[in-house]
Order: sequence, then structure tokens, then C-alpha cells
Amino acid sequence: MPLPYHQRTHNCGELRAQHIGQQVLLAGWVANHRDHKGMVFVDLRDRYGMTQLRFGDETPRVVLEEARRLRSEWCICVRGTVAHRGPGNVSPRFFTGELPTGEIEVVVQELEVLSESPPPPFDISDYTTAHEDIRLEHRYLDLRRPGLQRNFLIRHRVAKTLRDYFDAHGFVELETPFLTKSTPEGARDFLVPSRLHPGKFFALPQSPQLFKQLFMVSGFDRYVQIVRCFRDEDLRADRQPEFTQLDLEMSFVQAENVMAMAEGAIAAVFAAVLNYEIPRPIPRLSYREALDRYGIDRPDTRFGLELHDVSALAGQTEFAPFRQALEGGGVVKAIVAPDPGGKVLTRKTIDGLVEELRGIGAPGLPYTKVVTDEQGQLKVETGIAKHLGSVAPSLLDALSARPGDVVWFMPGPYASVCKYLAHLRQRLGQLLQLIPQGQWNFLWVIDFPLLEWDEQERRWSSVHHPFTAPHDADLELLFSDDSSRWGQIRSKAYDLVLNGIELGGGSIRIHRAEVQRRVFHVLGINDDEAQQKFGFLLQALRYGPPPHGGLAFGLDRIVMMLTGAASLRDVIAFPKTQRGTCPLTGAPSSVTEKQLAELFIRTIPPSK
Ligand code: ASP
Repeated sequence: MPLPYHQRTHNCGELRAQHIGQQVLLAGWVANHRDHKGMVFVDLRDRYGMTQLRFGDETPRVVLEEARRLRSEWCICVRGTVAHRGPGNVSPRFFTGELPTGEIEVVVQELEVLSESPPPPFDISDYTTAHEDIRLEHRYLDLRRPGLQRNFLIRHRVAKTLRDYFDAHGFVELETPFLTKSTPEGARDFLVPSRLHPGKFFALPQSPQLFKQLFMVSGFDRYVQIVRCFRDEDLRADRQPEFTQLDLEMSFVQAENVMAMAEGAIAAVFAAVLNYEIPRPIPRLSYREALDRYGIDRPDTRFGLELHDVSALAGQTEFAPFRQALEGGGVVKAIVAPDPGGKVLTRKTIDGLVEELRGIGAPGLPYTKVVTDEQGQLKVETGIAKHLGSVAPSLLDALSARPGDVVWFMPGPYASVCKYLAHLRQRLGQLLQLIPQGQWNFLWVIDFPLLEWDEQERRWSSVHHPFTAPHDADLELLFSDDSSRWGQIRSKAYDLVLNGIELGGGSIRIHRAEVQRRVFHVLGINDDEAQQKFGFLLQALRYGPPPHGGLAFGLDRIVMMLTGAASLRDVIAFPKTQRGTCPLTGAPSSVTEKQLAELFIRTIPPSK
């Protein structure tokens, strides 16, 4: 019989013992239904929780009959009375806090089926084992799962907290166009053909970078936006072609001001969602130190296993790989891994690690073990022990090695040594269980180099983007004609790292024309190209630009960390698969000949 579903008295997560005896009207979806000794029990689910319904003796016969027809995922409305489940029947999950309604049930008097559903293609529960493609194809059902819903409620809380925070600090949320020109983040653009201007294309923005700088020229000295960005990158694990950034820009600031503002925002989010107070100020590490100590510009500082430069001692050995590396201008670095019982770093595990490093390009991974001799003196054994010869004692001393340690070496050019040892360090951290769970290690990495040498293209390129300002103290290097020193120019760029994951970054921008011209020159961008690419920004920067800077955080990634989700796809409502497709809509898809003709476009099938 019809029930006034528009007058729900409660939601499905709300009823408690204090409501016993009250008449209530609930609506939701049938999560479970079971016939039990002439009675029907239904778990009614909505986004607030789950409430047990009982159709039994007190239920009119016709309603009980109707209840027998109910199936999973039907949408229903019921009227009934709240009752205690009885001492023996209280859900065990009530006591653990997982099911706050688990003490009561609703004894149903009236039922209306609002809509039926065929059996869902997969189990709508957090324990579903369905393949992700099936879940994404029926994402609207997938999104009925409580775990996923929780992620999106947190995502909402994050966005709301950020908006409130920035509003309270005088920021203005301004929108920037999606149909625009190429932006300078260095990835491939998604292009949109223009029908009105045949042969011409818009690019979807990789970031609002140029527009937010224009806002500064306009005098909106505090801009913020939660904005979608698009990057047509090759598909790597857990990347999305469209993703959301928290984007901001400020005028009359130095790096300190932007970083403090951003810290405050992240702290507000962690307080609101996790009730966790981030210790501030967040520690800082220069890019150089991060590489020296961890081999990577986004180190996970929850554990040690730092890298040691042992080049000087390695140079005193006869070991050919060491000597070759050093003669070629490279380094020899080491990591000391404690394995006192010798249980973790077994021969098999070590061989596995060596193989793994080969897989990412390392020519080898020399190692040795630290043991004690009969006199209780430290010595090395196995691996490259014999090649270390008389240098071993000084080496062990320099590394503060202890019995049971495994010492790993990497000779080679600085950059590759860093890359391989950073990988090894992370793997050793996992294997030796040195990474504490439930800990949040934030870190600012600062003083990035302005430029890096692109060996393939044989030219200098920006580490951040071409509008990033160099350190004042390094301007002299920038204007020097000695290009061999350009790699030493530090920039006013900063990245925020959490547990080894980059949350985002930004920089102070160049606001002086001659510096910008020089950077373009160094990057090999001539005047014509600069005009053609960024002419409008360069033009605007002629009209009294204020000193300015900003940053962007990856919102999806932050939500992923806060929710503990296993993938970005679990915090984006309608994500793309790892193949860059959308199983729900079938996008990308072919279009009609007519649509193509209107755009003056003809497609060429890819050659096999
Ligand atoms: N536009 C930059 C990015 O998307 C962030 C910034 O420099 O503000 O990475």
C-alpha cells in the first residue's frame, strides 16, 4: 500500500534503544533478506547505515506475504515500531561499534515496494570479490557499497574544510576555462577540435597555471580553486587522465608565506577528518640533502636506512666496479640493513632483490654481511667481502655496522645510484618491517634545481615549469654563459611529501621580464615560440605584475591517503580504468561520420 516516503521519520543509521516503542517510517534498499521460522528479516540500507526490519506475528498477513517477495536491492518504504531485538539477539557488531543500530529492529506493519531490481551483477558489500571492470560498468551499484560511500563522504568533508579554510583567509574561488590553450606542465594535452574554426583545436588544461597568474596581475591577491585538470600521460599504475587539484596563488609573498598557508590547509583537513594534529612547522629538506640521504626527492622519512657515501674508502679497494665508477666521475654509496637474526635477508631474498634491481636497470648489487670473528671483532663475509680487503675495518667503522647487518653497495653515476638505492631502501624498509603504520610523516622538499639536462632531447628543461623563479643568489649563474653550471641553479620551488608520496607542490614565479626572457633563452625557447605559446601571459606580465607564487595539491591523492583507499579509483566517483577507458559509458567511443565531417576531421586507423 502507498506510504508517504517523502516523510521519512529517520534514516537507516539512526535508530537506537532510546527510540524503542516509537512508530517510524524508513526507506532504503534491501541489503539482505531471510525467511526464518515463518518470519522475514530484512537489512534495510541507505547511506547512513543499516536497520533490521522484522516481518512477524505483529505484521498483517498480506504484508508478510509481500515481504516474502522482496529481493536484494529492491527499493522499499516501511512503517513500523522500534523494538529491542531481545537479549540473545543483539548483533555482535553492535558491541564493536560497527553496527550502531544493532540493538534494535523495526517491527513492520506496512510495506510499499517503491521499485524492484533484477539480481545485481555482484554482491553489494565491502567484501565483494567482483572484478573491478564489472564494478565500474555498474558504478551506480558499486557506489551503494558502504565503504565506497564513506570515501566520498570524506572527500566531501575535505573539499568543504578547504573551502572554509581558504574563505577564512581571504581567498576568492575563481573559475578558469576548460577550453583553452596548452599549459606548461609538460605532459601531453587532450585536444578538442573547434567546429567553428576548422583545423583549430582547444586544449584541456593540465593546470590553471597561466590563468591563476593572470588573476594576480588583476589584483585578486588570493585565488583558490578546486579544479579538474587533464593530462594525457602514458598509463602508469594509478594515474587518472582527469584528476582534481586544490590550486592556489598569492601575491606579495615569498615561499615561506605560501608554504605556511598550505600547511594550515592540510592541517585543517587532517584535524577535520582524522582528528589528527599535524606537528608544525612541517620539517624541510633541501632537494640535494633528500637525494644524498634517501636517493629520492620524495623520501619516506618514517624509517631510516639512509644512504652513505663511501666513495673515498671504495677508492682504496681494488674492486673493479668501484674503481670504474669513481674514475668515471661517479660515486659509491651504501645502505646498511640490520637483520640481527639473519632470518629476513636470506640468500633467496637477496637474490630476489638483485634481480629486482636488474629489472629497473641496475647493472648489479654488490653486498656483503657483517659478522664477528673468534675474538669478537667485526668482519665481512660472503658477497664482495674478499674485494674489500684491508679497507673493510674502516668501512665498517664509517658505517657504524653491527653484527648481522647486510651492507649493500651501488657504484655508478650519482643519479642512477640514487635511483637504485632509493628503490632498494623502500624494499628493505618493507621486508624488514621498519615502516611504522598509522604514522604521518610530512616533509617539505625545497630548493629544487631550476633546470635539468634532458639527455634525449639534448637540451635544458624546467624541473617545475618555465615560470618558476630562481633563487636570488643563483641569478648570477642563470645569466652566466657557462652552461655547465646551469644545473646548479636552485629554484624557489617546494613540494609537500607525505610518507614518501608527493601531495603537491608549487613555486614563486618570475615577475621580472628580463629573468623570464633569460629562462626562455636557456630553455631554448625563442621569442617566437614563447609568444606563440605563452604570449598572453608575457603580455600581461608587462603591466605591473606583483611578486607572486602558489601551489597545487592533488586532491584525489590526499583523499586516498585519508581514507586508506587502495587506489585513486576508489576516491573518484566515475574514474577511468587503468587502460584509460570508462566501462560505464563506453568512452572513449567512435563518433558518426557526420560529426567528424562537421569538424573537418578524418580518422586514420592505426597501422598494425
Ligand atoms: N601548476 C603547478 C602544477 O600543477 C602547481 C603550481 O606551480 O602552482 O603542478
